[in-house]
Amino acid sequence: MAQNTVKFHKLTRIYKYCFTFAQLYQFLIAFIMNILLLGAGGREHALAWKMVQSKLCSKLFIAPGNAGTAQFGININISATDFAAQKECCLENNINLVVVGPEEPLVKGVYDFYNKELPQIAVIGPAAFGAQLEGSKAFSKKFMQRHNIPTAGYAEFTNENFEEGKAYIAKHTLPVVLKADGLAAGKGVVISSTHEEALAAFEEMIINKQFGDASSKVVIEEFLDGIETSVFVLTDGKDYKIIGHAKDYKRIGEGDTGLNTGGMGCVSPVPFVDDVFMHKAETRIIQPTVNGLAAENISYKGFIFFGLIKVNNEPLVIEYNCRMGDPETEVVMPRLKNDLVELFLAVHNGSLKEQTTAYDDRACATVVAVSGGYPGEYKKGFEISGLNNLKMNSNSIVFHAGTKQIDDTVVTNGGRVLTVTSYGANITDAVKKSKAVLQQIHFDGMYYRGDIGYEFE
Ligand code: AMP
Repeated sequence: MAQNTVKFHKLTRIYKYCFTFAQLYQFLIAFIMNILLLGAGGREHALAWKMVQSKLCSKLFIAPGNAGTAQFGININISATDFAAQKECCLENNINLVVVGPEEPLVKGVYDFYNKELPQIAVIGPAAFGAQLEGSKAFSKKFMQRHNIPTAGYAEFTNENFEEGKAYIAKHTLPVVLKADGLAAGKGVVISSTHEEALAAFEEMIINKQFGDASSKVVIEEFLDGIETSVFVLTDGKDYKIIGHAKDYKRIGEGDTGLNTGGMGCVSPVPFVDDVFMHKAETRIIQPTVNGLAAENISYKGFIFFGLIKVNNEPLVIEYNCRMGDPETEVVMPRLKNDLVELFLAVHNGSLKEQTTAYDDRACATVVAVSGGYPGEYKKGFEISGLNNLKMNSNSIVFHAGTKQIDDTVVTNGGRVLTVTSYGANITDAVKKSKAVLQQIHFDGMYYRGDIGYEFE
């Protein structure tokens, strides 16, 4: 008995030392946390803006970044999908944490690459298998079916059962939704109001390989009529935290008209997302998704973007994405009060359960300025003026998307050029502030929607 007590005391002493070492490690990490952020858009500028506010962020590198991210860290001219070049950069700069902005590197296995080549580095994002939630519509539909997660009814077809697919479409109620299985840069969804149009789109995808391999399989699903919103979650594979929600505006024209874009603006919080809706979304969709990933041993330490639609007051899943949205990040990050890097470390360590999230009470809106001609053809390289003399207060933030610094000048370098986020007493007030800032910015062909949040006025 006495011997056991001595052993116990020795063990407690060792434990105490271990605890001190653990604390020391935490302390050191706090001062040497070098982060590499992959991506180049407004989402990455917003993530950079948020991460540099963390006490845990020592140095930030962005690959490849834009003129805006360069204000917060060092842009490295490496593509987000060039993993071999990233490895060199990580070793040279003692990177501890890699945060993945866009979907392409995730679907191409960036997590798996680091896990094998640089296992000492924490990566925020799922392994390629889990990234199929976004990378394969058929995978995500089957996953939802297995876990009884509400979504539109569907069937999938390839070249092998093309004729069966045609017969399926011919009998389908209208409108009918066709989705290329793989990543198609946001262009792989066709909503047809006639069978002829749907059959032509089906043939274009499968026979004419409109999106290459991405459309060798096509998901055909029921059209859901309702209002959309997106909920954003961080998961460590076992637990999750909701970090925000938003509604985006995809169409180029005011009143939601014209072609689809990557996103012309966004608002948060969304007035129809009340506690009842959120409770349904959590219990019927978010929890079963995270539990499903865990039950199937799918390695997932990162963001899940739930694209939801509210039909007759019930939430259904339209899509999953395996990363944050753009421009949703530009309203979600400003409203999230937490230290984002601390949340990332909890994701990596599997201790997300111990974290508590908090949000700014104010509304946030972002209004995106795009190049003339976007989402069709547009020119790049126009000087952006006004950025250095903006009359605005801390209620507004300019996030760069398609911009590039050339000597002292910032020029346009993409379709979506920049976005102005503002806090406001309500959505209308926030949008008004963003527009007041945009009126001071100019580039050739600049266009933005003046009606973001119009239905909430
Ligand atoms: P996805 O890439 O699956 O998110 O689809 C892009 C957009 O198409 C969504 O944001 C919706 O606006 C629309 N959409 C996709 N699936 C459906 C559906 N089953 N019913 C109605 N609209 C849909």
